[in-house]
Formats: sequence, C-alpha cells, structure tokens
Amino acid sequence: LQKTALVAPEIAASIVKELENQRKRVKLIASENYCSLSVQLAMGNLLTDKYAEGMPHHRFYAGNENVDDIESLAAEEARTLFGAEYANVQPHCGADANMLAYWAILTTKVENPALAKWGETNLYKLSDNQWKELKAELGNQRLLGLDYYSGGHLTHGYRYNISSRLFDVYGYTVSKETGLLDYDDIEKQAKAVKPLILLAGYSAYPRKIDFKRMRQIADSVGAVFMVDMAHFAGLVAGKAFTGDYDPVPHAHVVTTTTHKTLRGPRAGLILSTNEFAEALDKGCPLTMGGPLPHVIAAKAVAFREASRPEFRDYAKKIVENTQALAAACAGGGLEVLTGGTDNHLFLVNVRSAGISGRQAESALHECNITVNRNSLPFDPNGPWYTSGLRIGTAAVSTLGMGKADMDELGAIIALVLKHTSPAPDGKDPSKLSKAKYIIEEKAKAEAVDRVK
Ligand code: PLP
Repeated sequence: LQKTALVAPEIAASIVKELENQRKRVKLIASENYCSLSVQLAMGNLLTDKYAEGMPHHRFYAGNENVDDIESLAAEEARTLFGAEYANVQPHCGADANMLAYWAILTTKVENPALAKWGETNLYKLSDNQWKELKAELGNQRLLGLDYYSGGHLTHGYRYNISSRLFDVYGYTVSKETGLLDYDDIEKQAKAVKPLILLAGYSAYPRKIDFKRMRQIADSVGAVFMVDMAHFAGLVAGKAFTGDYDPVPHAHVVTTTTHKTLRGPRAGLILSTNEFAEALDKGCPLTMGGPLPHVIAAKAVAFREASRPEFRDYAKKIVENTQALAAACAGGGLEVLTGGTDNHLFLVNVRSAGISGRQAESALHECNITVNRNSLPFDPNGPWYTSGLRIGTAAVSTLGMGKADMDELGAIIALVLKHTSPAPDGKDPSKLSKAKYIIEEKAKAEAVDRVK
C-alpha cells in the first residue's frame, strides 16, 4: 500500500478508509463476505499481466505454461469440491457466468447453421437490430426463471438486462399467500410456456429449493435445468445443502459467483455435465475478452479452503446465525417474511412500521449496521424505495460471531427501526429526521417555483 501511495495517494487513502469502514460497521449484506488474506494475495500479483484467451494448453497467446497449470488446478478443485463433471473457472463475475451459460445452452440445443456467423462476435457489442436478428435466428427461445420481484436476479430475464434480449422471458413467482415457491404452480406454468431453459436460483429468497422436484419439472417439458447458486454456493460447498437441496447432481448447468457465501474472490464459475463442455470451452471469445489469471489463482485458493472440514462448520454456522438473527428480529416486533429462513439470508417487511426499505437502510447505516433494501414479492414501493430489507450473516459468521451476537444485533435492528419516524406524507424522505425532511421538501418546492 505504501508503494501505491507513492503513485496515487488518494487511492491508497481510500483503501485505508475502506478498511476502517469495514471494521467499524457490522456487515449484514447477504451478498458480501470477507475473503481470506491467502485469497487476496493470490489475486494481488503479477499474474494480472498475462493474456490467456482460449483454454489451458490451447491458447491464442504464447507463454501461458504457468497460467495453464493454475487454471487446470482451479477447474479440478471446483469439480472435486462440487462433484461436477465439468468446470469453467473463467467468468469474471456471476453475470458473465450466466451469459456464457445461456449461450452455451443455446448453441448446444438449437440447431441453426446461420448461428455460426455470431461465433466471432462479442455479444455485449451487438446493436438493437442485431439482437432482434439473433433472437429470431435462435427461434425466439424461452427462458422461465424466478421473477425479479420474487427474488430472482437481473440476469434471469429482467427487462433491462441483456438476458431479456436473448430470450422470450417468462417469470414464475412465489405464492402470494405463503411467500414460498409453489412447485405445482411452476409445473403448470412450465407446461404452458415450454421453455428451453428452466432456471432456479435467487438473490433474495430465504428458503431451500427442492432441486430434485425442479429437475422433474424440467424433464417433463424437455427443458434444460439451470441453477444459479450465486448466493448459496458456500452452503453447497460446506454441505449445509445436500441431497434434493444440492443443485449439482440435479442440474444440467450450474452457475455461481465465488465471492458471496463461498468466500472467494469477486468472480464467477460454471459447472455442468459433459454435454455442455464443448460449447462452454468456446465461450470466452463469445462473451468475454481475456480471462483474469490472477483471479483464477485466487479461485483455486478459495476452492481449496472451501474443501476443508472447517468450511463445513462455517456453512452450518451461517445457517444457525441467520436463523437466530431472524428470530431476534421477529422477537423485536419486525415482520420476517415466510416466518424465518433455511439459508444465509432473510427478508424483513418494514412497510408495517410505516417506513420504506430505503429509509430503514439509511437509518441502520447511521447506526453502523450495513444492510441493503430489497423489493419484496408484489412490492407496491418499487425497486428504488422498496418495502423490505435483505439481511445476511455470511460476513459476520466469518468474523466468528454466534448466537449471543445475533440476539443483540436483532434487538438493535428492531430498536432502530422502531424509532425511525415514518415520512409525514407517506413518501420516502431517505433521512431519519422529520424536520430535515420537511426542510428538504420545502427547498424542493421552492426550486420548482424558481424554474417555473
Ligand atoms: N446471480 C445471482 C443470483 C446474484 O445474486 C448475482 C449478484 O448479486 C449475480 C448473479 C451477479 O453476480 P455479479 O455481480 O458477480 O455479476
């Protein structure tokens, strides 16, 4: 860091301040964690200087002997850790992994000689018209995944995401009554839609998914079953999710990030059956530029860490802590959706306290607790203000916190939210104090008058 400071002192100062921030605040963001120093150091080194397009021992650049060793080992570690036939460790992030997986499924399953011409194209650079042409050539294939407002991710077909240009998108939702997935309903919808891909996985769903049942649904309509386990990959690696709840034995393709519960570097990973290996191996020039050898090295280190017995204790602890924190929040009078959690996150409805998710998020942040606001299923407040909070314990479990800490944290969260004043007119003031809000509203009205 001293060396960095010699060149860019502002950057070095921000890194130090970030350390301060991460130490001072309790991090309850469900998608974040603290990776180990071994992972960080594997990432922060000269491997970043290599170009390595292609796959191990089959590169478009010379001088990749060491990168080949690193990538081969990382893929082997991933296969062993998750029990998968094939692993691709190149995606830069979860969104990349999904894009590459979609493309590999499309090119494996859709026979159209005209598609070859897209093989040299970077999909991220297509114009609107090219997208329409490509989608039509693919036969307007359908993707059926969890709707964004029920906890699905943007890359699962959200209207502004590139995935919605590649497919005709259909979403299944959680039940309005229970907040849970209703497999019979999903089956009915799958039979009506007949998707090419049935997609399971979430960013904000607090329960386990029965992957065996989902695979049966996919098989009944001849769909490829894909799972995005970005959030719960650490629970799979740490054997907190096994049998019907482990996606790997049931899905054709599994994508994930490596930086959430899995506690690795910020990156992505794809696992699959051998059927998709050839198409996935070609994926790099189609959706990405050069892979990041330094991040791939850090993935190998993280996979090795996740294969140790201690990681199983960690995964178990995450689930215990999340359940304890959800219970403590409920005990403090907060509404916890579905009544609890089976995984590393839970959702709180703050609308009943008369505040928005945005207001709850900033109130807690002022009290040094970092969470993120989240849309709830069928949320009337939309994705900006929202009615909910998503709370997760992967990071605090890494710090070694336990039940007593969760009880205390839950009581604090409930107390802060209870004392956060509702916006006077039901709107979201984003600030805690009523007086401040009124002043801001007055200033805004005056500004509008001035413009008039
Ligand atoms: N898939 C899911 C389920 C996610 O929750 C996320 C990120 O939050 C992603 C994919 C995208 O990951 P990334 O931010 O690494 O692109």
